[in-house]
Amino acid sequence: MSEHVLEVKNLKKVYGIHTASEFETLHYINFTCDNGEFICIMGPSGSGKSTFINNISTIDNPTSGKVYIQGVEIRTMSSNEIGKFRYENLGFIFQDFNLLDTHTIYENIAMPLSLKKVKAALIHDKIQQLAQSMNIDALLKKYPHECSGGQRQRAAICRALVNDPKIIIADEPTGNLDSVNSNELLKLLQQLNQENGVTIIMVSHDSLIASYSTRLIYIKDGLIDQTLERKDMTQEEYFQRIVEINATQSKDVFHQ
Ligand code: ADP
Repeated sequence: MSEHVLEVKNLKKVYGIHTASEFETLHYINFTCDNGEFICIMGPSGSGKSTFINNISTIDNPTSGKVYIQGVEIRTMSSNEIGKFRYENLGFIFQDFNLLDTHTIYENIAMPLSLKKVKAALIHDKIQQLAQSMNIDALLKKYPHECSGGQRQRAAICRALVNDPKIIIADEPTGNLDSVNSNELLKLLQQLNQENGVTIIMVSHDSLIASYSTRLIYIKDGLIDQTLERKDMTQEEYFQRIVEINATQSKDVFHQ
């Protein structure tokens, strides 16, 4: 069990149970992720990608089935334990940035470390290093409302990474970034994955972004429809295979 950083058994998610709008979004999904993998989840809009990522990362609770993170079944933890577990292990990069408007960008990024009572000098060094890698070192004294959407997203990325999470959960992490900053983020994620062994599980609709991963999971109608491992493919070969999968899946829509 514990060699997998994540294990999902028969995960089912139903929204609106016992209402007229009851809808089964995920149908008994089984899935494992090993330590150090970089997984990209793709699939059509509404196929269940966000639901899946929320249910495997303590954000939401499955209707049935089990989710183990580092061998611990999430449902056996109290809400306090889940809070501590998230804060010690997980880094979230979502599209809604949730930065506090009353705090500067620096204070927002520092928050997870301030809570942990890390020394101010160490916090300073860590933030400088991350802010430089995300090109926001000139913005650290500004407030979120003084920054653009892309700048706020990059600040939220720094905050997600400042705690050195063991697992990064990212839902369309480049959604608000231009191509230069998308590329920077992907290089940073790849570096964290390859050099620091951080496990990454990311949703993206973009084949180029997906080509940075080590395994592709294609979700369709609430099920894992296809998987593709990069193995010894070059990034370009892997990218081409991902493009083909998406093209074939799109073609299927025309022939239904
Ligand atoms: P994706 O991320 O692939 O676009 P989602 O996981 O967001 O898909 O949604 C999958 C399905 O579940 C969609 O039909 C969506 O309408 C439905 N859904 C998602 N969240 C909720 C919710 N909170 N309540 C009811 N239905 C939801």
